Amino acid sequence: MDIKAIDNEYVAHTYGRFPLEIVSGKGSLVYDEQGKEYIDMGSGIGVTAFGIADDAWVAAVTAQLGKVQHMSNLYYTEPCALLARALCKKTGLKKVFFGNSGAEANECAIKAARKYAAERKGPGHHTIVTLKNSFHGRTLTTLAATGQAKFHELFQPLTPGFVHAEANDLAGTIALAQAHKAAAVMIECVQGEGGVIPLEKDYVQGLAAFCAAEDILLIVDEVQTGNGRTGAFYSYMNYGVEPDIVSTAKGLGGGLPLGAALFGAKTQDVLGKGDHGSTFGGNPVSCAGALSVVSRIDEALLTEVRAKSDYIFSALAGAAGVESVSGMGLMIGIKTVKPAADVVKTCMENGVLPLTAKDKVRLLPALNIPMALVERAVGVIKDACR
Ligand SMILES: *Cc1c(COP(=O)(O)O)cnc(C)c1O
Repeated sequence: MDIKAIDNEYVAHTYGRFPLEIVSGKGSLVYDEQGKEYIDMGSGIGVTAFGIADDAWVAAVTAQLGKVQHMSNLYYTEPCALLARALCKKTGLKKVFFGNSGAEANECAIKAARKYAAERKGPGHHTIVTLKNSFHGRTLTTLAATGQAKFHELFQPLTPGFVHAEANDLAGTIALAQAHKAAAVMIECVQGEGGVIPLEKDYVQGLAAFCAAEDILLIVDEVQTGNGRTGAFYSYMNYGVEPDIVSTAKGLGGGLPLGAALFGAKTQDVLGKGDHGSTFGGNPVSCAGALSVVSRIDEALLTEVRAKSDYIFSALAGAAGVESVSGMGLMIGIKTVKPAADVVKTCMENGVLPLTAKDKVRLLPALNIPMALVERAVGVIKDACR
């Protein structure tokens, strides 16, 4: 069967797929239809936090599948409650709303921010400030939040009430927030789709102080950076700030669709009965898998993530054909002399699957990728950059 031909005929052409069909895998190794092995340096865009078919995750998911695969949110289920508690214990945040994706997590955060500001400050305080070069999702509202014009062009009109500030320009961001009577400022501490670019610490801290003083909510989009990815449980923890709302998804479910908005002390009771909902939100199977993921993101794992990160940074920085390396933890962008797409193509031929982000080669391997595979993959990437 020619799966590529069938897919090309029947699946909407919204993705530029690589000419590669993945049929199986284990951990950080995946296999194509010919049985060729690849080191997975993308983990499904930061989703399979513990790799493909991770034993503990599979056990948690299959155990729940045999009990209840779905129940409406009219009833209590154990995985949903335990996961919410685990997330609150890890963060000090107070309450969790579960959806199914990053965009939905951001939609929930935005709705909560608008309601908070409307109740506290009255009408007209609905604007959300986000950053240029950000990425917050593909729904019409999260597209409006996304500060990249190329995503907007063909889909006007988008949801109104979003303005975009220059990242790391504190005075400019504050001026924009004041001019628009902002309800919230939403940031990614490391802009992922924008090219794996960390925000400056002074900027994030200054922004947090401004938001707290003005009772403007600070929302941190941890969809890509979250759940251990940057060497902390959430990336904001590397910055010493406390957001009012955190959105997350991708790695949270370990491979099943799951998103969450986490609310702090000020925002925990903003959304009440009937204000928001999602049929699949908090799905018990997704939550059981997520609980297995979250419970294993401990100090020992995070130390490992940082050590592997240090190895990759030092191996690639200054290597032939590498202009610069950016990122945090196991979220790494490599600016190459050759076009990133050419480097990725050579890597694929040599059994390594990296991603791209804008003009960079991007690495988002599983958090538990064995060091030996990191070394092998880095060797292939270095050769491909040369
Ligand atoms: C991927 C991503 C999203 C969107 O997540 P979906 O699950 O695709 O809706 C939002 N924000 C950031 C920072 C992301 O990386």
